[in-house]
Amino acid sequence: MTPQEKLYSWFLLNQRDLTFRKKKQAYSIWISEVMLQQTRVAAMLPLYESFIKKFPTVETLASSSEEEVLSAWKGLGYYSRARNIRKGAIFLSQNYNGSFPKDLGKVLEVPGIGPYTARAVLSIAYDLPFAVLDGNVKRVLSRLFLYEKNILGSNADKELQILADEFLNLKYPGDHNQAMMELGATICLPENPKCLLCPLQQDCIALSKNRTDQVPIRTKEKKKLEMTAKILWMEAGDEVLLVKEKSPRFLKGMFVLPFYFEGELPSEEYETSPFISKLSLLPDLRPYGKTFSHTITHHKFKFFVIGNSFNKQKLNDEISSWKKDIEWKWVKKEKLEEEFPSSLAKKTLNAILK
Ligand code: SF4
Repeated sequence: MTPQEKLYSWFLLNQRDLTFRKKKQAYSIWISEVMLQQTRVAAMLPLYESFIKKFPTVETLASSSEEEVLSAWKGLGYYSRARNIRKGAIFLSQNYNGSFPKDLGKVLEVPGIGPYTARAVLSIAYDLPFAVLDGNVKRVLSRLFLYEKNILGSNADKELQILADEFLNLKYPGDHNQAMMELGATICLPENPKCLLCPLQQDCIALSKNRTDQVPIRTKEKKKLEMTAKILWMEAGDEVLLVKEKSPRFLKGMFVLPFYFEGELPSEEYETSPFISKLSLLPDLRPYGKTFSHTITHHKFKFFVIGNSFNKQKLNDEISSWKKDIEWKWVKKEKLEEEFPSSLAKKTLNAILK
């Protein structure tokens, strides 16, 4: 038996008695899936039943007032869901005579319906081959295929969706999706999964490597460090000064407009080099243009531009007398973005020109 067949057989024997999934109707599946997004099954069931009794079809929901829908939603919380399903019902009623289109792209146009709900409705109601991805499914897939990347990372949903699509049982997509969600909810639990009862135990890579407690990996993306920085605009005629530090914290190996950090510094790496420090202390530097924000790997900087016009020869003489732990050069202002190919150059130019 393939893993998909084992899962399907397990589901037929073990599925919970969930009334809302018995009737394969797009409307009731839609309502139940939206309710389940933030509410537990046991709490949602009685409310679901009274809601469907009150609004048995898309049309009845579409022709009701917002107050009526909100009042029927009482007890479920997150009332924006109720407003959205009413908007969705109006849209379906106006555009599809109250039925659900069978095309994923079209379902995604319905107000308030996202990829999870669209896939759940199309697969469960119409047995169309769309694999769903919710928290439970992500956990099962991460363990089954030993997905070792952060499931909260930016590419995770895309990569897990590919795994989910590849693992989909094309003969019974609706039951397969429900089985995956059910397995995650009842067997492949976040803590202490019940692997001995799992139909996929012989196929599960995490189990075979004894790593079920290590996946899925959930690490919140690092928060951006917010800092203040000053960038020096030192011009002489139609030229501007660029510098190249030996081992700068950012933009290594590049000639850049000199900049330094201010305020509380997270570590020594952010200290201003002696050369830039001397530059920043030259007399008559004044605010130049507007402030702007700029992000460099996990850092969000608020940049202030300071600067002035200098006599190139005098400034060169001055700089030459300092300890040369840095390279510098003058470049034509119109060539700045070529010489300093970073959006920081463009933003500085914009800030000055404004
Ligand atoms: S064998 Fe264990 S870890 Fe693997 S899918 Fe089943 S319950 Fe989850």
